[in-house]
Amino acid sequence: MFNDGKLATELWNVALSRLRNGKVHENIYEQWFVNIVPVRLDGACLVLGVADEFVIEWVDGAYGVDIAEVLCNIAGHDYTYKFEAGHAPEENSGAAVPAADAVPAVEPLPDRKVSRLQVEAPVLERPRSTYVNSTYTFDNFVVGEENRYAYTAARRAVECPGLFNPLYIYGNTGIGKTHLLHAIAHETQKNNPDMVVRYATCEEILNCFVESLKSHQYGSFRSQLRDVDMLLVDDIHVLGSKGQLQEQFFNAFNALYAENKQIVLTSDKRPSEIAGLEARLISRFEQGVTTEIYAPGLEVRIAILRGMQQDFMMRFDDEILEFIASRISSNVRRLRGALMQLLARVSLYPDTPVTVERVESILHSVFEEEFSSQQITVDEIQKKVAEYFNLHVSDLLSNKRPKSIAEPRMVAMYLARKLTTSSFPQIGSAFGRNHATIMNAWNKVPELCSQDEELRRAVSLLERQLKSQ
Ligand code: ADP
Ligand code: MG
Repeated sequence: MFNDGKLATELWNVALSRLRNGKVHENIYEQWFVNIVPVRLDGACLVLGVADEFVIEWVDGAYGVDIAEVLCNIAGHDYTYKFEAGHAPEENSGAAVPAADAVPAVEPLPDRKVSRLQVEAPVLERPRSTYVNSTYTFDNFVVGEENRYAYTAARRAVECPGLFNPLYIYGNTGIGKTHLLHAIAHETQKNNPDMVVRYATCEEILNCFVESLKSHQYGSFRSQLRDVDMLLVDDIHVLGSKGQLQEQFFNAFNALYAENKQIVLTSDKRPSEIAGLEARLISRFEQGVTTEIYAPGLEVRIAILRGMQQDFMMRFDDEILEFIASRISSNVRRLRGALMQLLARVSLYPDTPVTVERVESILHSVFEEEFSSQQITVDEIQKKVAEYFNLHVSDLLSNKRPKSIAEPRMVAMYLARKLTTSSFPQIGSAFGRNHATIMNAWNKVPELCSQDEELRRAVSLLERQLKSQ
């Protein structure tokens, strides 16, 4: 009998040789697959170790189906797999090289290692909090009008730590917030290797907090948030409604702030829009620089694709890159995913020309997904607005006149006009009104917003939420 580790290695070797025989292009194999480490078998599930989330995103996105397929029917068994981040490939390790009869060994690429942040205490020492993604740097962040301010502020946090404190970057999903946060970590570590930089997602901090309470290691948790020179917290909106953790975070924040230690936070919302966030934290978060990051424009999206294809040693015509970038505008993660999918498919048939028609058919479902993510309906708007103001959709459709109903109703009409392609008469009929009422709301809401900050925030939050759902 093999032990689990040995069996995992044997299994993975069989899988690798099957993958290499036709499913995976040589470049891709060398760049990615040789660095995957078989970790163990959990029952019939093979656990595969990779450096970080980025590798998971790419390999699983582009080759998940193939990996699942080659793990079927090995010595009469069907195996499944899952990835685990935090396993840097061992140098000269033979673990990921297929069995001798299959293929010659391949050198792992040296530049794919993730750098490690300084984390001494145990509680936060989990793979995802101790590593930053080595591919997220300032150098490969493409800057345009939509993200320039956030980029410059992030650079400033590295050059003059404590000047913008905290730096709070918010915006929709998939448009570079985490990338910038990792870039800050990298650059700071590069320039000041002695600085203790802590990066963690808010979710990780929450988990560590809960664990520290269970294991009576609370002191260690506390010191990990405080004994740092720079604290970078991703997705801070997770803090909303987590009362106990908010208390801890408030204290840590104050301690760091008092010592002029740089704090950078990212979120999908402004501080004041995070439901259940205590007022004292809102005001702390807003006391530095708060900046919104927007989805990048076409030129930037094309440049991102160009950068990516260089990384993957592939080259498509400009026409192809422009085509993809023009079809996916709201989310860079989706844009990257599309190119990865294309690379994976095209690398299998390198001799077939890559035409716009072929790309259209390969990426059909990604384009559909993008399209439907952008199509907002009047129904959805009514539902969302009613929910936000604690009303029923029927209130919005009624003739009730109190301000608490009339104002949300106008907001819904305004957003329906702004976010859908429906005409004034079409929206009118969706509200049981005529087109003049909708036109009136269209003109009136910006006016009301200019006099009422709370309403302005509500409208802007609703708009962002609707666009990102
Ligand atoms: P968010 O944290 O805002 O959800 P991420 O930072 O995870 O988004 O970005 C999603 C993907 O898009 C990442 O792979 C990131 O590297 C890439 N990306 C986003 N914006 C840019 C940019 N301006 N230049 C290069 N890559 C980008
Ligand atoms: Mg993120």
